[in-house]
Amino acid sequence: MKVELRNLTKIFPSRNKKSNDVVVAVNDFTFTIPDGKLIGLLGPSGCGKSTTLYMISGLQKPTGGQIFFGDDDVTELSAENRGIGLVFQNYALYPHMTVRQNIMFPLQNLKGVDKLTKQEMLDRAENAAKLVQIDELMDRKPSELSGGQQQRVAIARALVKMPKVLLLDEPLSNLDARLRLQTREEIRRIQKETGITTIFVTHDQEEAMSISDIIVVMKLGVVQQIGAPQEVYDSPINLFVAKFLGTPPINVFKGRVEGEKLYIGGTAVLDTPGVKDRAVTVGIRPEGFILDANGPLECNLSGVEVMGRDVSVVSTHGESLNPTVRSIINSDNKVEAAATVRYSLKSNKVFLFDTETEERILF
Ligand code: ATP
Repeated sequence: MKVELRNLTKIFPSRNKKSNDVVVAVNDFTFTIPDGKLIGLLGPSGCGKSTTLYMISGLQKPTGGQIFFGDDDVTELSAENRGIGLVFQNYALYPHMTVRQNIMFPLQNLKGVDKLTKQEMLDRAENAAKLVQIDELMDRKPSELSGGQQQRVAIARALVKMPKVLLLDEPLSNLDARLRLQTREEIRRIQKETGITTIFVTHDQEEAMSISDIIVVMKLGVVQQIGAPQEVYDSPINLFVAKFLGTPPINVFKGRVEGEKLYIGGTAVLDTPGVKDRAVTVGIRPEGFILDANGPLECNLSGVEVMGRDVSVVSTHGESLNPTVRSIINSDNKVEAAATVRYSLKSNKVFLFDTETEERILF
């Protein structure tokens, strides 16, 4: 099911009665989510991700704009009538019910033509449980399950109504690191198998990048960039997006362009053909540094952190806007113990931004 958001806007009144300030939680969001895709809604806390999801679900009413499921305008439709499945961070299973009863629960209130027989409900619950691989646990109570198993029950409960759209709000936040990784792969598998259009909200960029077909990066209610994860990482539209994606984060320097060359401090570090003379903010991805004894960028070496396959070289530089500069180097390369380390740069890993607007300057 294609989901279309047209100029979707949500304005909350001020909580302080004396003030006229309002919160624009979501500002003019327009995007068509293609049928069968997994979309990661991504951004820092308070950027409007959950509000967007709640408006799509019908739990919150937009202040402006429209929502279409396929060709149907569902903006005024209640949550129960939208055919969605919802999974929250706190997935609150009913503790006194078995896994089977928990999964079947949403089917019991179906009325009219949708009403199911007991056997149909049992079959549907069995199928949903198989999909999330908990069909062996159907007679257990939630307290007898691990966190990851409980989360799967919540997903099965959302799937049992065969939703047209699956909405997941930080569904992995309560899981430990290993389980998080495993469960996100599960979600991806289930989504691919069912082909249900899925919207996944997270503030974790790595999580969103790893499972989404398309990511939407938001800031203060405004969509910054929409695209395939790799595309957005490789070509961020502004400094905010560049900083938000990537671990370790992008390194940011003060710089200037003169005679189509980029200077950081007094040294020309890269050719920037076509860029006029100007001050710039420079972003360099950690993997954009090449150890090079004759390289133009010299940093003060602080230490080397072993990461297994790679090493992270930690250094400082007078023009860096962060306390440290972090490069990621293949561990086959030897970093000499010395006061300084020199680099040349990979031009496709270096981004220039306007110092005022923070918009990208292409070269
Ligand atoms: P988080 O990751 O912390 O959940 P989020 O990106 O999901 O954040 P939202 O919960 O959508 O952000 O909130 C967006 C903005 O709207 C925030 O500034 C928040 O304080 C505000 N907001 C959310 N709900 C309400 C409400 N019911 N009344 C007033 N303001 C609200």
